[in-house]
This record gives sequence, C-alpha cells and structure tokens, in this order.
Amino acid sequence: MQPTHSIETALPMLDTVAFVFGACVGSFLNVVVWRLPRHESLLSPPSHCPHCNHRLRPWENVPILAWIFLRARCSSCRNRISVRYPLVEALVAIIFFLLWRRTLTEALPLYSLFPAFFLAGTVIAAGIIDLEHRIIPDRLLAPALLAAIVFSLLWPTASLAAPPRHPAGWLGLAGIGNQPLADWIPPYFLQSAVAVKNVLLGAVGAGVFMLAIRKVGRLLWGRTAKRAPTGSGEVLGLGDVKLLIVVGAFVGPDAIVAVIFIASLLGTLAGAAMLAFSRMRRGWSLPYAPYIAAATILWLLAETQLFALIQRFFIYI
Ligand SMILES: [Zn+2]
Repeated sequence: MQPTHSIETALPMLDTVAFVFGACVGSFLNVVVWRLPRHESLLSPPSHCPHCNHRLRPWENVPILAWIFLRARCSSCRNRISVRYPLVEALVAIIFFLLWRRTLTEALPLYSLFPAFFLAGTVIAAGIIDLEHRIIPDRLLAPALLAAIVFSLLWPTASLAAPPRHPAGWLGLAGIGNQPLADWIPPYFLQSAVAVKNVLLGAVGAGVFMLAIRKVGRLLWGRTAKRAPTGSGEVLGLGDVKLLIVVGAFVGPDAIVAVIFIASLLGTLAGAAMLAFSRMRRGWSLPYAPYIAAATILWLLAETQLFALIQRFFIYI
C-alpha cells in the first residue's frame, strides 16, 4: 500500500520534527514559567542571563544542546544555568514525540495534535509555576480557555473530546446525542455544536465539581484553619479549580472525570509517600497542579488503556 509505505519512509524525519518542535516549545515554556509569575512581558526583552543581562546569541538559544555546549554556565558571567532548562526542553520534546506516535498508531485525526500540544504545554507550565510559586497565573489560564473555545468552534473535528477519539462517548456525554438532529443540520455545524457542548460540559462540570469539593473541605477544616492539606486553609486552591476548568474545556466531560480521578490518585499516593518518609511538616503545602498536569498528560498519551483500567477498578469496588 503506497500511503503506508510513504509514511514509513518519512517516519524518522517526522519523529525528529515532533521532537525538535517539542524542544522548542519547551524552551518557550521556560520563558513562560520564569516571566508570567513575575508579571513580565513574554515578548520583550529578548532572552538574557538573569545575572549579567547578557543577551543570548542565537546559538545559545538552541534547546538542550546550548546548555550542554555552554557546560551549564553563562558565556559572559560564568554563573551557573539551572539544569531545569534542558530538563523541561527534553521533557516536552519526549511528550510531543509520544503524542505524535500515539496519534499515528491509533489513527487519530492528525490535526487533533494541535489541541493536544497546546493542552500539554499549558498544564506543564501551570505545574512548574505552581510548584515554585504556589500560584497559577490567570495570564496562563485565560488564553488557554479561549484557545479551547476557538479550537472547538473553528475546528470541531480536532476537538480532543470528539468521536474517533471517543466513538462510544463512554459516559454518554461527549457523543453526538440527539441523533435525529443530524439529518437536517449541516455536518460542520453539527460537529461545531457537539464540540461547543463538550467544551461547556467539560469546563462547567469540572468547575462545579471542584468547587463542591472545596466547599466540603471548608466544612471539614474550616475556612481559616491551617490544617487543610494545602496549608492555605483550603483543600483546593482556586487556581487548581481554574486549571481543571481549562483541562475540562479541552478534553470534554467524559475525560475530565477520569483526569480528576487520576490526579487525586497520584496526589494521594505522593502525599502518603511523603508522610511515610515524614517529610510532611505542619503547614507544609502540597501543590496540586503538578498532579493535574501529570494526569492530563497520562490521559492524552494513553486514554484508551487508562479508561479500560478505570472501568475494571470500578467493577471491583
Ligand atoms: Zn550571565
């Protein structure tokens, strides 16, 4: 078969494109996680050393490789450059490569890679900023929410909640729904309507559910008590709720249920592990966004397998 053959010969090149693109996005995310919480512009000034303001030459901006060639030091003032920069670049590169490979092996629509890349980049940035500053800036979340809406309106078949991805619409929420409508609504508008429905259900569902959990946390721990797991007197920060609203807008109502479940599971396991190694101090705060990020990316990479696993889990309990 000719098309299969041609994709096989082009595969190493396409793999490289996905990896290099991921590394470049990772490089941009390094700028985002440094500047957004400091209320700096993303566009100006151009990349520079935070110690001596040395403006990076084009080759010093090359993801991963520049850090290695510079031997982790600024070429001007010799101050150390954190290993976090190449690590974030490599992480995003690997995730983008895996997302591309999954799209290929599961024969998902190629253009659904765009919302998948966008969502993966957003949750990684949110996770790192939360880890460092215990906030998730609205300047990150608002454009992402807007992107989810624009993607679904203009490009409904690229939606991460759309059929081929979820042919059965496994909770029955993300599917077409009212079949007879399909007979007299033009296909594009029907797809748009379904995509917008999924954005709304995913976002509103996540928001209502997480605000309810926040409320329960307040009832259990009290509003000002410092005993809640996050140390802020809340079981869940408002930023975490907003982040899950954004993820829900991208993945739709079916998947957001699973993402919340996986994130809680990962958070509980990590919390239990820290307790076991007695690293948890009083007032120690546990950021939740990294777990939301991990759960979202896991879901993007292996939703078919994860859903089968969750299904089995609920059959046993
Ligand atoms: Zn420097």
